[in-house]
Amino acid sequence: MFLFGTVKLRKIKKGDPDRKSIFCRICGIRDCVQGRGYEGCNKCDDFPCKQIDNFPMPVGKKVILRSVPYWREHGTEKWIEDEEVRYLCPGCGHKLFRGAKRCNKCGIPVDSD
Ligand SMILES: [Zn+2]
Repeated sequence: MFLFGTVKLRKIKKGDPDRKSIFCRICGIRDCVQGRGYEGCNKCDDFPCKQIDNFPMPVGKKVILRSVPYWREHGTEKWIEDEEVRYLCPGCGHKLFRGAKRCNKCGIPVDSD
């Protein structure tokens, strides 16, 4: 259920019709976004709303609060690009997971969220 997963981001880039799956399917955010006909929370005047506030995963919430304002400001293309770069290890270039404290390849401390 990790949101903003890189696989999903790639799909967005290719214009996949299911691109709204960027938001986890079990939390209400996706339904909310779809119901409003938005691309994402970046288009929403109510952001950050109660659904974000009540987000069950601290890391997910942190990522949302960090990245959605950036998304809003810079647009989807730039946002995806920068998010992808952000989650590469600065030491070795290995892909990092959301919430990662260390690169699981070279072991250096990371703080990408
Ligand atoms: Zn590394």
